[in-house]
Amino acid sequence: MPELKGISDVDLAGKRVLIRVDYNVPLTEGCVDDDTRVRTTLPTLKMVLDAGASIILMSHLGRPQEGEFDAAYSLLPVAKCLSSLLDKDVPLVQNWIEGIDDKQNEVLMLENVRFQIGEKKNDDDLAKKMAALCDVFVNDAFATAHRAQASTHGVAKFAAVSCAGPLLMKEIDALGKAFQNPSRPMAAIVGGSKVSTKLTVLESLMEKIDQLIIGGGIANTFLKAKGFNIGNSLCEDELIPAAKSLLNLAEEQGKQIPLPIDVICAKTFSKEAEASCKLVGEVEDDDLILDVGPQTAKLYASILQKALTIVWNGPLGVFEFDQFGEGTRVLAEAIAESDAFSVAGGGDTLSAIAKYDVGERISYISTGGGAFLEFLEGKQLPAISILAEPSS
Ligand code: AMP
Repeated sequence: MPELKGISDVDLAGKRVLIRVDYNVPLTEGCVDDDTRVRTTLPTLKMVLDAGASIILMSHLGRPQEGEFDAAYSLLPVAKCLSSLLDKDVPLVQNWIEGIDDKQNEVLMLENVRFQIGEKKNDDDLAKKMAALCDVFVNDAFATAHRAQASTHGVAKFAAVSCAGPLLMKEIDALGKAFQNPSRPMAAIVGGSKVSTKLTVLESLMEKIDQLIIGGGIANTFLKAKGFNIGNSLCEDELIPAAKSLLNLAEEQGKQIPLPIDVICAKTFSKEAEASCKLVGEVEDDDLILDVGPQTAKLYASILQKALTIVWNGPLGVFEFDQFGEGTRVLAEAIAESDAFSVAGGGDTLSAIAKYDVGERISYISTGGGAFLEFLEGKQLPAISILAEPSS
């Protein structure tokens, strides 16, 4: 991870500061359903205001058609929500692209950046216009850091001064601590539905970890690669060779990829399906493997007990249905109880953390779904790399 300038390295007094935040919040009937993402930014906003600067906030919301205003994706509810949290007026500026003429308000919010043509393509003209709105650009949105778009990447190139916000810094520090020089042993857990979406993650993690715990639908392909009958379970046959080569690589390098020894099966994929526990050798042709069994969960937990660094992405089973959630629950509890430095992230992982109420006991929960996965894949995140470069 590059060394970055933070807001405490920049003189903000009297400056107009444009902050890229992640206010992509869930809305129902024009109201913010969950204001966590807005609340998380409050310390950053207070820090900037206390330094004597004024703030322009910039975010996307949902996936609207570029070039068209659509009220369903307006940030107006978010501006209202922030206004009540800050106890200050936060006007939403509709037509901001040619400049903003508002010297009265300390905090302004720009309408959804995704209404602008050129945002997704990282258009230089759009990025220059964004940069022209401010003296200092601050990126505080890790969740969009894997996207090179005008509001995440281009603007940082053209702003007079660009730096990382505190939330972004915190994320980089935590991920750096887990990956750059991890305390060992280091264990990673990769679960979820498909090998295809996680293959690069698995390959990249293999270079770093001592133990790679595999669960969820992903484990089925590995079990089949080992010659087990997995019945009707989710499996990607075309990735069996990739699974075999990861297993071979682990053996060559003296690392462990423990596979399930028992599994929870059902005959149908449904909330009401009856769960039965079987050893992996006992799975029948019409079985669906939907969770790891208790012996496996115990084995995985014992590995985690000895780890000093833990990285977690993806559930071990179909945890949305309670009867297939025990593997994920035991794992979540083992991570929570461990003294290791633990980092977790990815959409479904956050739902599992919430469901089993272990969030307080995990060292760091990443705010990025796609960005966290790309980080695990070992990719450079463009919105972060650009902050390390001098402005154009
Ligand atoms: P992902 O988005 O790839 O992280 O996958 C998360 C989804 O994988 C969750 O919705 C789980 O229900 C699902 N999942 C976990 N284990 C299995 C399994 N054994 N079979 C099918 N789906 C699974």
